[in-house]
Amino acid sequence: MTASEALELEARKAALLNAIKHEGRADAGAVIGRLLGAHPHLRQKTADVRSLISKVLDQVNAMTPAEQQKVVEEKWPEELAKEKPKVERVLPPLPNVDKYPKVVTRFSPNPDSVLHLGNARAVILSHDYARKYDGTFILRFEDTDPRLKKAALQYYDLIREDLRWLECSWDEEYLQSDRLEAYYSYAEELIKKSAAYICECEPEDFKQLVEAGQACPCRNISPDENLARWKGILGGEYDEGEAVVRVKTDLDHPNPAVRDWPALRVIDTVKYPHPRVGGKYRVWPLYNMACGVDDHLMAISHVIRGKEHLTNMERQKYLYKHLGWQYPDAIHYGRLHVIGMDLSKSKMMRDLEEGIYKDLTDPRLGTLMALRRRGITSQALRGVVYEVGPRPVDATISWENVYAANRKIIDPIARRFFFIDGPIVLSVSGVKSSRTVKVPVHPDHADMGIREITVEAKDGKCRLLVSKGDLDILKPKAVVRLMELFNVEVKSAEADGIAGEVHSETYAEARKLNASLIHWLPERHNCKVTVLMPDAQGIVGVGEPAITACRADDVIQLVRFGFGRVDAVSQDSVTVYFAHQ
Ligand SMILES: [Zn+2]
Repeated sequence: MTASEALELEARKAALLNAIKHEGRADAGAVIGRLLGAHPHLRQKTADVRSLISKVLDQVNAMTPAEQQKVVEEKWPEELAKEKPKVERVLPPLPNVDKYPKVVTRFSPNPDSVLHLGNARAVILSHDYARKYDGTFILRFEDTDPRLKKAALQYYDLIREDLRWLECSWDEEYLQSDRLEAYYSYAEELIKKSAAYICECEPEDFKQLVEAGQACPCRNISPDENLARWKGILGGEYDEGEAVVRVKTDLDHPNPAVRDWPALRVIDTVKYPHPRVGGKYRVWPLYNMACGVDDHLMAISHVIRGKEHLTNMERQKYLYKHLGWQYPDAIHYGRLHVIGMDLSKSKMMRDLEEGIYKDLTDPRLGTLMALRRRGITSQALRGVVYEVGPRPVDATISWENVYAANRKIIDPIARRFFFIDGPIVLSVSGVKSSRTVKVPVHPDHADMGIREITVEAKDGKCRLLVSKGDLDILKPKAVVRLMELFNVEVKSAEADGIAGEVHSETYAEARKLNASLIHWLPERHNCKVTVLMPDAQGIVGVGEPAITACRADDVIQLVRFGFGRVDAVSQDSVTVYFAHQ
């Protein structure tokens, strides 16, 4: 095969691969880019390359997509293998799937805040298991505490948004604050069965008795009298704190916290109105009552949650026994420690109120909103969740685990740009003429195009900007390669400016000298770039103007600085939230 035949074959391969990715039509620019990327010397013969590619493209684009696919399968099957997504990790099977007509799981947040990294595990596992078994995934808002863990209207939607971002679509949605009548009717049934009673004791007195394994005086009153008390509660005869409905358990249960647990209580909703239903109800179920009743009524087959709920399961099993229900299969996974992240919701909400954080997207936070704003992808979180899975042992992850998973996803798609943090002028002599360099938008994907940066030379000199972070490389006599431009020998280096001289042109020469590669920008015509770092500090610098063509939400890489998500763009400035290196 002659060199020109080899080149034609390569062009055909590039065209076919590009065509099968783009509905049968190869793009000339992409194919040329790929060829020039692989053979930089062809840049001197672009006219020849263009005519070759135009010929090849005519042939390739005349083929049907099926024909194109067939040729690639026969000649370059390894290229197709490269395109296939990596084998996804699988979840271990759920127990007792055959026991149920179908798998039904739920995620049941309290809308008193948004979701954070720790919640992602419950959401993703519950959703993905439902999908794995062709089941149903339910979103249930557990908003029955208007007093201490009070819901707020904005969080219902923000949580829905978090779920959508996690690609966990739900099949049914319930709000517990709409379901109070259901809890009341089961409370009444329990009371009639003498499986629950209205306790009027002072909390401290009850605690002492129950810790000693003894019944309080209310436990043994007749169902009729209890029913009368219950009607009295519903009728508003009791004030907040004057009575609770307790579900009977074994009084000698080894864990005193399980014994005769409280199921419903009175809340002064004039003082503490519920954000959705205001003062409509005064009697509110506690967590185990609402959750226990709903898991049954919604036919939940598998409850997937953290092992901090083990005691709740103990409590709820009494409810199920009293009512003759079958408790679902419960999978309690271990705790997830994230090094360097405080996942305490109450602390976060307190700090937010005190103004330590501007809002819930503050980059210091572990909320999904904050991660999203930084350009962490939900695929990365899914990868991390699958890694820890539903195992009962505690797991520890670090930010670096999240970053590594995210890097794999965004590195192939993030466009590259030069960003100079702390710009310093580098004045270079020996520059023969002005020039425009063409830099690939992505080093591995010629099809992502090129960006152009113009260097203006005047009297054999040009003025460039380099980052102050590179000052320790830019020592006198050092030769550095200005990426995609030329090699410069440093003549003098002061804190306020560096002088250098063109040493040589080619990358090969730089490699021979083992020269460091640094990025740069012309002194003028740049845009202003502010990078908000994970500690919420902003770093201000300059970037190439092409960054302003980005749109909000684009994930980009600032070369030699790190990945980030474009947050806001104006004509001459860009704000980027830093993701990771
Ligand atoms: Zn009592």
